[in-house]
Amino acid sequence: MDFHVTAAQRDLQQRARDLAADFATRAAQHDRDASDPVENYAALRAAGFYGLNVPRELGGAGIGLLGWSLAAEELAQGCASTALSFNMHLSVVGPVMASPLVPRATKERLAKMVVHEGKLIGGNFSEPTTSGLVGTAVPLTRARRVEGGYRITGRKAFASMIAAADYVMVMAYPDEATSPTAAMLLLVPPDAPGRCVENVWDALGMRATRSDSMVLDDCSVSDEALLLRSDDIVPFRRDGANWFWGSYTPVYLGVAVAAYRAIVETVKSRTPPGFTQPLAYHPDVRRHVAEMSVDLEAARRLIHHAAWLSDTQGPTPATLSALYRAKYFVGEAVTRVTRTAMTLGGAHALLKTSPLERFFRDGAVAPVQFPPRDFCLTTLGMLELGLDPRDVLPPLKSDGPEAGPIVR
Ligand SMILES: Cc1cc2nc3c(=O)[nH]c(=O)nc-3n(C[C@H](O)[C@H](O)[C@H](O)COP(=O)(O)OP(=O)(O)OC[C@H]3O[C@@H](n4cnc5c(N)ncnc54)[C@H](O)[C@@H]3O)c2cc1C
Repeated sequence: MDFHVTAAQRDLQQRARDLAADFATRAAQHDRDASDPVENYAALRAAGFYGLNVPRELGGAGIGLLGWSLAAEELAQGCASTALSFNMHLSVVGPVMASPLVPRATKERLAKMVVHEGKLIGGNFSEPTTSGLVGTAVPLTRARRVEGGYRITGRKAFASMIAAADYVMVMAYPDEATSPTAAMLLLVPPDAPGRCVENVWDALGMRATRSDSMVLDDCSVSDEALLLRSDDIVPFRRDGANWFWGSYTPVYLGVAVAAYRAIVETVKSRTPPGFTQPLAYHPDVRRHVAEMSVDLEAARRLIHHAAWLSDTQGPTPATLSALYRAKYFVGEAVTRVTRTAMTLGGAHALLKTSPLERFFRDGAVAPVQFPPRDFCLTTLGMLELGLDPRDVLPPLKSDGPEAGPIVR
């Protein structure tokens, strides 16, 4: 491992820390109400975060995954839902900007939207049937070419910040396509005829992401909505794995760091009656704190190493392995740390007024967030062993000869 954090990355980290201090004042309320943290999205816009991963020559900040990992860990400590939802924006803008499949004029158009016009872009590839176990990367939603634009029909699920975003980037299968892995990316604005949102997001954790469902019923968008059309979307998805999948990992690390900081304060300040020392002096408490610190530091190192590989090597097998290794470990570590913090906090931590209660619920989402824990291990095992996915038996009985595990 041979990387260092630059002064510019430290500066971004500090700016994120400052924003997080403000986000923290509203996090409990947005969690309780499952409301969109629109003030936070506005603050991120004002701070220039919308163009973070737009290349410099197109007016953006041109940061890589390591810079974002440092910033995301900070933002999530203030409001994890804000950090996760906002990451949807970066996670779809980044791969479009980096892909050789996207024409330069399209990149310029998208850069103008996010950098100069301050547009917030959600990303909605998921559908109710989407699963890391499904043997195809292609959605059921379809887009039909019509005079002056497209008509999109389908049902999308888990659309974070769908009501707050200026556009949502949707993946659809081109109606006239013959290739099984063809797909298009289209930008759908809130007022597109035929688009409606169903408010189904009353969830355990990450409540203020408002990851609702979206129905597109012959939804009409103009020619300008098209960002990419490819007869094989798999390379685009694999090459964008750093932003599509790797960029959520540091958000969850931030949840665990917030829980750790909160419980350290608690055990240092709570002195049981009849004693002269706070809980921190209890040997079992010290041991728990030590274990949590090991988990956090190991998780951080794995994230930074994967991000550095991604920034310097691109989407090599070594980078993909590192991204999956980091996501797996972070999911487990966040679950352990938030649970231990909750236990050390005792009955007080069970109350809705305790931030530890929220960190515990947000932390529970970590192993489930794509790429889920078991997907990470399945794919990492294949990469480590150098297996060709086509030679590996499908994990379940498949409905066709082509179906098998996909390495993305
Ligand atoms: C808070 C939150 C916000 C989200 N926001 C968005 C968004 O804005 N846009 C969007 O498009 N999507 C979003 N998603 C959806 C997400 O990215 C997935 O598409 C969706 O979660 C898939 O559904 P699933 O987890 O139920 O399915 P599955 O992938 O089926 O996962 C369920 C379980 O199956 C097992 N599993 C899955 N794949 C494998 C495998 N290959 N090998 C072994 N076991 C496996 C694992 O145990 C996994 O935990 C969001 C999800 C969450 C939790």
